[in-house]
Amino acid sequence: MRGLAAVPSYVVMQPTTLCNLDCAYCYLPLRAADRRMSVAVAEAVAASVNPWAAAGRFSVVWHGGEPLAAGREQLAALMAPFAADVEHHVQTNATLVDDAWCEFFAAQRMRVSVSVDGPRERNGDRTDRAGRPAYDRIVRGVAALRRHGLPFSALAVVNDPSPGRATELYDYCLDLGCEVLGVNIEETEGVNRRDNSHDAAAVTGFWAELVSAWRRDPRIHLREVEWSLRYAAAVLDGTADDLLPRRLDPIPTVAYDGSVVVLSPELAGFSDPRYGDFTSGNVLTRPLAAILADADRTAWVGEFISGVEACRSSCPYFGFCGGGHAANRYFELGRFDGTETEHCRNSKIRLLEGVLEHARDHQSPGA
Ligand code: SF4
Repeated sequence: MRGLAAVPSYVVMQPTTLCNLDCAYCYLPLRAADRRMSVAVAEAVAASVNPWAAAGRFSVVWHGGEPLAAGREQLAALMAPFAADVEHHVQTNATLVDDAWCEFFAAQRMRVSVSVDGPRERNGDRTDRAGRPAYDRIVRGVAALRRHGLPFSALAVVNDPSPGRATELYDYCLDLGCEVLGVNIEETEGVNRRDNSHDAAAVTGFWAELVSAWRRDPRIHLREVEWSLRYAAAVLDGTADDLLPRRLDPIPTVAYDGSVVVLSPELAGFSDPRYGDFTSGNVLTRPLAAILADADRTAWVGEFISGVEACRSSCPYFGFCGGGHAANRYFELGRFDGTETEHCRNSKIRLLEGVLEHARDHQSPGA
Protein backbone atom coordinates (compact mmCIF):
# COMPACT_ATOMS: atom_id res chain seq x y z
CA MET A 1 0.00 0.00 0.00
CA ARG A 2 1.78 3.15 -1.20
CA GLY A 3 0.15 6.56 -1.70
CA LEU A 4 -3.39 7.31 -2.82
CA ALA A 5 -5.30 5.51 -5.57
CA ALA A 6 -6.37 7.78 -8.45
CA VAL A 7 -9.90 6.32 -8.51
CA PRO A 8 -11.92 6.07 -5.29
CA SER A 9 -14.52 3.40 -4.50
CA TYR A 10 -17.04 6.04 -3.50
CA VAL A 11 -17.55 9.79 -3.16
CA VAL A 12 -19.12 11.56 -0.16
CA MET A 13 -21.34 14.53 -1.05
CA GLN A 14 -22.58 17.24 1.32
CA PRO A 15 -25.89 18.55 -0.05
CA THR A 16 -26.23 20.93 2.90
CA THR A 17 -24.18 21.75 5.98
CA LEU A 18 -27.40 22.02 8.04
CA CYS A 19 -28.56 19.44 10.53
CA ASN A 20 -31.95 19.70 12.21
CA LEU A 21 -30.45 18.02 15.30
CA ASP A 22 -27.59 19.10 17.57
CA CYS A 23 -26.12 15.88 18.98
CA ALA A 24 -23.63 16.41 21.79
CA TYR A 25 -20.96 14.24 20.11
CA CYS A 26 -21.29 15.69 16.60
CA TYR A 27 -18.03 16.70 14.85
CA LEU A 28 -19.57 19.04 12.26
CA PRO A 29 -18.57 22.71 12.60
CA LEU A 30 -21.28 24.24 10.37
CA ARG A 31 -24.30 22.17 11.33
CA ALA A 32 -26.38 25.20 12.38
CA ALA A 33 -25.89 26.92 8.99
CA ASP A 34 -27.80 25.99 5.83
CA ARG A 35 -25.15 26.18 3.11
CA ARG A 36 -26.47 24.32 0.11
CA MET A 37 -24.64 22.53 -2.67
CA SER A 38 -25.39 23.90 -6.14
CA VAL A 39 -26.35 21.72 -9.09
CA ALA A 40 -23.17 22.98 -10.82
CA VAL A 41 -21.10 21.19 -8.13
CA ALA A 42 -23.07 17.95 -8.62
CA GLU A 43 -22.65 18.18 -12.41
CA ALA A 44 -18.91 18.66 -12.04
CA VAL A 45 -18.63 15.62 -9.74
CA ALA A 46 -20.80 13.50 -12.04
CA ALA A 47 -18.51 14.27 -15.01
CA SER A 48 -15.78 12.25 -13.24
CA VAL A 49 -17.99 9.73 -11.44
CA ASN A 50 -20.04 8.56 -14.44
CA PRO A 51 -17.06 7.06 -16.31
CA TRP A 52 -15.88 5.37 -13.08
CA ALA A 53 -19.36 3.86 -12.59
CA ALA A 54 -19.36 2.64 -16.20
CA ALA A 55 -16.13 0.78 -15.47
CA GLY A 56 -17.34 -0.90 -12.23
CA ARG A 57 -19.52 -0.59 -9.16
CA PHE A 58 -19.47 2.96 -7.79
CA SER A 59 -21.35 4.75 -4.98
CA VAL A 60 -22.22 8.29 -4.01
CA VAL A 61 -22.87 8.71 -0.29
CA TRP A 62 -25.03 11.71 0.62
CA HIS A 63 -23.89 12.86 4.02
CA GLY A 64 -24.48 16.15 5.80
CA GLY A 65 -25.26 17.91 7.90
CA GLU A 66 -28.52 16.05 7.62
CA PRO A 67 -28.91 15.37 3.88
CA LEU A 68 -32.72 15.27 4.06
CA ALA A 69 -32.68 18.84 5.41
CA ALA A 70 -31.84 19.87 1.82
CA GLY A 71 -35.36 18.78 0.78
CA ARG A 72 -36.45 16.26 -1.85
CA GLU A 73 -36.48 18.73 -4.72
CA GLN A 74 -32.91 19.84 -4.08
CA LEU A 75 -31.63 16.31 -3.52
CA ALA A 76 -33.30 15.11 -6.74
CA ALA A 77 -31.70 17.98 -8.67
CA LEU A 78 -28.27 17.09 -7.22
CA MET A 79 -28.71 13.39 -8.07
CA ALA A 80 -29.94 14.02 -11.62
CA PRO A 81 -26.49 14.47 -13.26
CA PHE A 82 -25.36 11.00 -12.13
CA ALA A 83 -25.68 8.04 -14.52
CA ALA A 84 -28.26 5.36 -13.75
CA ASP A 85 -25.62 2.81 -12.71
CA VAL A 86 -24.27 5.01 -9.87
CA GLU A 87 -25.49 3.63 -6.50
CA HIS A 88 -26.81 6.25 -4.09
CA HIS A 89 -26.62 5.94 -0.30
CA VAL A 90 -27.80 8.35 2.36
CA GLN A 91 -26.73 8.62 6.00
CA THR A 92 -29.63 10.15 7.90
CA ASN A 93 -30.82 10.76 11.44
CA ALA A 94 -34.24 9.56 10.15
CA THR A 95 -36.18 12.26 11.98
CA LEU A 96 -37.47 13.72 8.68
CA VAL A 97 -38.28 10.35 7.08
CA ASP A 98 -41.96 10.06 6.21
CA ASP A 99 -44.04 8.38 3.49
CA ALA A 100 -42.99 10.94 0.87
CA TRP A 101 -39.31 10.39 1.62
CA CYS A 102 -39.79 6.61 1.49
CA GLU A 103 -41.36 6.95 -1.96
CA PHE A 104 -38.38 9.07 -2.97
CA PHE A 105 -35.88 6.47 -1.70
CA ALA A 106 -37.71 3.70 -3.56
CA ALA A 107 -37.95 5.70 -6.81
CA GLN A 108 -34.25 6.68 -6.64
CA ARG A 109 -33.18 3.20 -5.46
CA MET A 110 -31.39 4.96 -2.64
CA ARG A 111 -29.94 2.86 0.19
CA VAL A 112 -30.61 4.24 3.65
CA SER A 113 -28.45 4.14 6.76
CA VAL A 114 -29.97 5.44 10.00
CA SER A 115 -27.98 6.87 12.89
CA VAL A 116 -29.40 5.44 16.14
CA ASP A 117 -27.50 4.59 19.31
CA GLY A 118 -29.69 1.82 20.76
CA PRO A 119 -32.73 2.04 23.05
CA ARG A 120 -34.18 5.40 24.12
CA GLU A 121 -31.94 5.78 27.19
CA ARG A 122 -28.79 5.45 25.03
CA ASN A 123 -29.86 8.33 22.77
CA GLY A 124 -29.59 11.02 25.43
CA ASP A 125 -26.91 12.89 23.44
CA ARG A 126 -29.27 13.18 20.49
CA THR A 127 -31.37 16.30 20.81
CA ASP A 128 -32.50 19.19 18.65
CA ARG A 129 -31.32 22.77 19.24
CA ALA A 130 -34.08 23.31 21.79
CA GLY A 131 -32.70 20.35 23.77
CA ARG A 132 -35.69 18.13 22.96
CA PRO A 133 -34.83 14.42 22.66
CA ALA A 134 -34.86 13.14 19.07
CA TYR A 135 -35.52 9.48 19.84
CA ASP A 136 -39.27 9.39 19.15
CA ARG A 137 -38.72 11.12 15.81
CA ILE A 138 -35.95 8.66 14.91
CA VAL A 139 -38.13 5.61 15.55
CA ARG A 140 -41.04 7.23 13.68
CA GLY A 141 -38.75 7.54 10.65
CA VAL A 142 -37.62 3.93 11.00
CA ALA A 143 -41.28 2.84 11.23
CA ALA A 144 -41.94 4.60 7.90
CA LEU A 145 -39.01 2.73 6.28
CA ARG A 146 -40.41 -0.57 7.56
CA ARG A 147 -43.95 0.27 6.43
CA HIS A 148 -42.59 0.78 2.92
CA GLY A 149 -40.54 -2.42 3.04
CA LEU A 150 -37.29 -0.50 2.56
CA PRO A 151 -34.17 -2.29 3.85
CA PHE A 152 -31.89 -0.10 5.94
CA SER A 153 -28.62 -0.13 7.87
CA ALA A 154 -28.00 1.30 11.33
CA LEU A 155 -24.97 3.20 12.59
CA ALA A 156 -24.57 3.47 16.36
CA VAL A 157 -22.23 5.61 18.45
CA VAL A 158 -21.21 4.02 21.75
CA ASN A 159 -19.67 6.18 24.47
CA ASP A 160 -19.95 3.82 27.42
CA PRO A 161 -18.69 0.36 26.47
CA SER A 162 -19.59 -1.16 29.84
CA PRO A 163 -20.74 -4.78 30.35
CA GLY A 164 -24.19 -5.47 28.92
CA ARG A 165 -24.12 -2.60 26.42
CA ALA A 166 -23.11 -4.69 23.41
CA THR A 167 -25.83 -7.28 23.96
CA GLU A 168 -28.38 -4.55 24.55
CA LEU A 169 -27.39 -2.79 21.31
CA TYR A 170 -27.39 -5.93 19.20
CA ASP A 171 -30.76 -7.14 20.55
CA TYR A 172 -32.20 -3.66 19.99
CA CYS A 173 -31.05 -3.73 16.37
CA LEU A 174 -32.61 -7.16 15.84
CA ASP A 175 -35.95 -5.67 16.94
CA LEU A 176 -35.37 -2.52 14.88
CA GLY A 177 -35.10 -4.66 11.75
CA CYS A 178 -31.87 -3.29 10.23
CA GLU A 179 -29.88 -5.46 7.83
CA VAL A 180 -26.43 -4.07 8.65
CA LEU A 181 -25.04 -2.56 11.86
CA GLY A 182 -21.94 -0.38 12.10
CA VAL A 183 -20.64 0.50 15.57
CA ASN A 184 -18.47 3.54 16.29
CA ILE A 185 -16.92 4.05 19.70
CA GLU A 186 -17.31 7.82 20.12
CA GLU A 187 -14.38 9.71 18.60
CA THR A 188 -12.72 12.95 19.68
CA GLU A 189 -12.76 14.85 16.41
CA GLY A 190 -13.96 18.03 14.80
CA VAL A 191 -15.81 20.22 17.27
CA ASN A 192 -16.38 17.26 19.60
CA ARG A 193 -13.57 17.52 22.16
CA ARG A 194 -15.01 14.98 24.64
CA ASP A 195 -12.51 12.45 25.96
CA ASN A 196 -12.67 9.09 24.17
CA SER A 197 -10.24 7.14 26.33
CA HIS A 198 -11.63 4.05 28.02
CA ASP A 199 -10.38 1.20 30.12
CA ALA A 200 -8.74 -1.25 27.68
CA ALA A 201 -10.40 -4.35 29.16
CA ALA A 202 -13.83 -2.70 29.02
CA VAL A 203 -13.54 -1.95 25.30
CA THR A 204 -12.11 -5.39 24.49
CA GLY A 205 -14.95 -6.90 26.54
CA PHE A 206 -17.50 -4.80 24.65
CA TRP A 207 -16.36 -6.18 21.28
CA ALA A 208 -16.15 -9.76 22.62
CA GLU A 209 -19.68 -9.44 23.96
CA LEU A 210 -20.90 -8.06 20.62
CA VAL A 211 -19.49 -11.12 18.83
CA SER A 212 -21.28 -13.40 21.32
CA ALA A 213 -24.59 -11.60 20.79
CA TRP A 214 -24.16 -11.83 17.02
CA ARG A 215 -23.28 -15.52 17.07
CA ARG A 216 -26.48 -16.31 18.98
CA ASP A 217 -28.56 -14.81 16.14
CA PRO A 218 -26.43 -13.69 13.18
CA ARG A 219 -29.26 -12.12 11.16
CA ILE A 220 -27.53 -8.73 11.01
CA HIS A 221 -24.35 -8.06 9.06
CA LEU A 222 -22.14 -6.70 11.78
CA ARG A 223 -19.66 -4.46 9.98
CA GLU A 224 -16.70 -4.42 12.38
CA VAL A 225 -16.98 -8.08 13.36
CA GLU A 226 -17.15 -9.23 9.74
CA TRP A 227 -14.00 -7.19 8.93
CA SER A 228 -12.21 -8.86 11.85
CA LEU A 229 -13.30 -12.36 10.92
CA ARG A 230 -12.27 -11.80 7.29
CA TYR A 231 -8.84 -10.71 8.53
CA ALA A 232 -8.53 -13.67 10.92
CA ALA A 233 -9.49 -16.09 8.13
CA ALA A 234 -6.93 -14.49 5.79
CA VAL A 235 -4.19 -14.81 8.44
CA LEU A 236 -5.00 -18.51 8.80
CA ASP A 237 -4.99 -18.93 5.00
CA GLY A 238 -1.73 -17.01 4.64
CA THR A 239 -3.47 -14.43 2.40
CA ALA A 240 -3.63 -11.48 4.85
CA ASP A 241 -1.18 -9.45 2.77
CA ASP A 242 -3.72 -9.41 -0.07
CA LEU A 243 -6.45 -7.81 2.06
CA LEU A 244 -5.06 -4.29 2.17
CA PRO A 245 -5.44 -2.35 -1.07
CA ARG A 246 -2.19 -1.54 -2.90
CA ARG A 247 -2.96 2.17 -2.61
CA LEU A 248 -5.13 4.06 -0.09
CA ASP A 249 -8.72 4.74 -1.17
CA PRO A 250 -8.85 8.58 -1.35
CA ILE A 251 -12.58 8.66 -0.32
CA PRO A 252 -13.11 12.26 -1.51
CA THR A 253 -15.64 14.37 0.35
CA VAL A 254 -17.12 17.09 -1.84
CA ALA A 255 -18.34 19.89 0.42
CA TYR A 256 -21.35 22.08 -0.37
CA ASP A 257 -19.11 24.63 -2.17
CA GLY A 258 -17.32 22.08 -4.37
CA SER A 259 -14.13 21.89 -2.30
CA VAL A 260 -12.61 18.42 -2.02
CA VAL A 261 -11.09 16.88 1.11
CA VAL A 262 -9.63 13.39 0.74
CA LEU A 263 -9.46 10.51 3.24
CA SER A 264 -11.48 12.02 6.10
CA PRO A 265 -14.85 13.79 5.73
CA GLU A 266 -14.33 15.05 9.28
CA LEU A 267 -11.63 17.51 8.11
CA ALA A 268 -14.02 19.40 5.80
CA GLY A 269 -14.77 22.87 7.10
CA PHE A 270 -11.64 23.10 9.31
CA SER A 271 -8.38 24.94 8.75
CA ASP A 272 -5.02 25.05 10.48
CA PRO A 273 -2.11 27.50 10.17
CA ARG A 274 0.19 24.61 9.15
CA TYR A 275 -2.11 22.82 6.71
CA GLY A 276 -4.50 25.49 5.42
CA ASP A 277 -8.08 24.32 4.83
CA PHE A 278 -7.16 20.65 4.11
CA THR A 279 -8.69 20.83 0.62
CA SER A 280 -7.00 19.38 -2.47
CA GLY A 281 -8.96 21.48 -4.98
CA ASN A 282 -12.45 22.49 -6.04
CA VAL A 283 -14.55 20.66 -8.62
CA LEU A 284 -15.84 24.00 -9.96
CA THR A 285 -12.35 24.85 -11.22
CA ARG A 286 -10.75 21.43 -11.81
CA PRO A 287 -12.19 17.98 -12.59
CA LEU A 288 -12.46 15.64 -9.60
CA ALA A 289 -10.41 13.02 -11.47
CA ALA A 290 -7.57 15.56 -11.92
CA ILE A 291 -7.75 16.64 -8.26
CA LEU A 292 -7.42 13.02 -7.10
CA ALA A 293 -4.61 12.26 -9.56
CA ASP A 294 -2.26 14.49 -7.57
CA ALA A 295 -4.02 14.71 -4.18
CA ASP A 296 -1.06 13.04 -2.49
CA ARG A 297 0.86 16.26 -3.12
CA THR A 298 -1.45 18.10 -0.68
CA ALA A 299 0.87 18.95 2.22
CA TRP A 300 -1.02 17.19 5.00
CA VAL A 301 -1.66 14.11 2.83
CA GLY A 302 2.10 13.59 2.39
CA GLU A 303 2.51 13.80 6.17
CA PHE A 304 -0.33 11.28 6.63
CA ILE A 305 1.30 8.85 4.21
CA SER A 306 4.51 9.08 6.32
CA GLY A 307 2.35 8.24 9.35
CA VAL A 308 0.93 5.19 7.60
CA GLU A 309 4.48 4.03 6.89
CA ALA A 310 5.36 4.59 10.57
CA CYS A 311 2.38 2.38 11.49
CA ARG A 312 3.49 -0.27 9.01
CA SER A 313 6.91 -0.51 10.60
CA SER A 314 5.83 -0.28 14.24
CA CYS A 315 2.36 -1.72 14.78
CA PRO A 316 1.49 -5.42 14.91
CA TYR A 317 -2.10 -4.55 13.99
CA PHE A 318 -1.20 -2.81 10.74
CA GLY A 319 -2.26 -5.73 8.54
CA PHE A 320 -5.80 -5.39 9.90
CA CYS A 321 -5.98 -1.63 10.33
CA GLY A 322 -4.01 -0.33 7.35
CA GLY A 323 -2.91 2.75 9.23
CA GLY A 324 -6.00 4.37 10.67
CA HIS A 325 -7.88 7.53 9.87
CA ALA A 326 -6.37 10.89 9.07
CA ALA A 327 -8.88 12.94 11.06
CA ASN A 328 -8.34 10.94 14.26
CA ARG A 329 -4.60 11.55 14.05
CA TYR A 330 -5.07 15.25 13.46
CA PHE A 331 -7.70 15.89 16.12
CA GLU A 332 -6.02 13.69 18.76
CA LEU A 333 -2.32 14.24 18.04
CA GLY A 334 -2.33 17.61 16.26
CA ARG A 335 -0.50 16.14 13.26
CA PHE A 336 -0.79 13.37 10.70
CA ASP A 337 2.43 11.42 11.08
CA GLY A 338 1.85 10.00 14.56
CA THR A 339 0.72 6.42 15.01
CA GLU A 340 -1.52 5.22 17.84
CA THR A 341 -4.63 7.16 18.77
CA GLU A 342 -7.41 6.49 21.25
CA HIS A 343 -9.58 5.86 18.20
CA CYS A 344 -7.36 3.11 16.83
CA ARG A 345 -7.03 1.57 20.29
CA ASN A 346 -10.82 1.53 20.73
CA SER A 347 -11.87 0.58 17.23
CA LYS A 348 -9.02 -1.44 15.72
CA ILE A 349 -6.71 -2.90 18.37
CA ARG A 350 -9.38 -3.72 20.98
CA LEU A 351 -11.83 -4.82 18.30
CA LEU A 352 -9.41 -7.47 17.07
CA GLU A 353 -8.51 -8.41 20.64
CA GLY A 354 -12.22 -8.68 21.51
CA VAL A 355 -12.85 -11.05 18.62
CA LEU A 356 -9.86 -13.14 19.72
CA GLU A 357 -11.05 -13.05 23.35
CA HIS A 358 -14.41 -14.38 22.22
CA ALA A 359 -12.69 -17.13 20.21
CA ARG A 360 -10.49 -18.11 23.21
CA ASP A 361 -13.49 -18.19 25.55
CA HIS A 362 -15.45 -20.43 23.18
CA GLN A 363 -12.82 -22.83 21.93
CA SER A 364 -13.55 -26.48 22.58
CA PRO A 365 -11.69 -27.93 25.62
CA GLY A 366 -9.65 -30.34 23.47
CA ALA A 367 -8.60 -27.72 20.94
S1 SF4 B 1 -3.85 0.19 15.00
FE1 SF4 B 1 -3.15 2.34 15.27
S2 SF4 B 1 -0.93 2.28 15.38
FE2 SF4 B 1 -1.68 0.30 14.52
S3 SF4 B 1 -1.66 0.55 12.30
FE3 SF4 B 1 -3.67 1.16 12.98
S4 SF4 B 1 -3.52 3.40 13.32
FE4 SF4 B 1 -1.46 2.61 13.22
